[in-house]
Amino acid sequence: MSARPKVMLLSCGGTIASAVKPGVGAMPSLDVGEMARQVPGVADAADLSSRVARLVASPHMTFRDLLDLAAMAREAIDAGSDGVVITQGTDTIEEIHKGVSKAYGCGAGLGLLGVATDGDVALCHRFAGSPEHTIGSVSKGVDREKQGKFLEDHHIASKTDCHTCWARPICSGGCYHEAHVHYGDSSHANLHYCTWVRSWTHTCLTIYGALAEKNPAFLARFDA
Ligand code: SF4
Repeated sequence: MSARPKVMLLSCGGTIASAVKPGVGAMPSLDVGEMARQVPGVADAADLSSRVARLVASPHMTFRDLLDLAAMAREAIDAGSDGVVITQGTDTIEEIHKGVSKAYGCGAGLGLLGVATDGDVALCHRFAGSPEHTIGSVSKGVDREKQGKFLEDHHIASKTDCHTCWARPICSGGCYHEAHVHYGDSSHANLHYCTWVRSWTHTCLTIYGALAEKNPAFLARFDA
């Protein structure tokens, strides 16, 4: 009997499972299980099975899809799997390939805004309805002075906790709303999930290294 844990990988759509279709753009179409088998050490660590569960991009996942995924996970456990991994894509591989170094944790207040039912414009959908995080309105537009102050306060240069962190180019301090909830300050670094982010970034670097060695054509699409 194998001492390795039996793991079922249910792959979904998202960036990592997408390939460019001429004239259409990036479409979810790849089996992440096949990629996972190329990662050094995976075969030693686990007895990996995989199944393509849903080839749809994240925004197109429905509650029905999530319920079906839960049923597939239960089925795998009932069939003897010790664990189930569900993938839903990531931009991180592309960001590593392009050498991205983020100045901001996300696009909130930059290219992403949220509108409340009263027409107030907030940093993102999670802040919609919070007067403290309102930077304009539908009728009057974005208050550029407020937006500029927000971008100055939330720039990675202002997050001294992050300055010596090796994962900073990818994380850049994380979600502003998470920071607001945990620290009462949207500009605070999300120190409560550093371990997770570093572990995730390390995993992505490992996958990137394996792809660069064994399947560089997969990465070449990010050069387009
Ligand atoms: S992992 Fe933690 S310390 Fe590193 S950039 Fe992200 S929030 Fe900052």
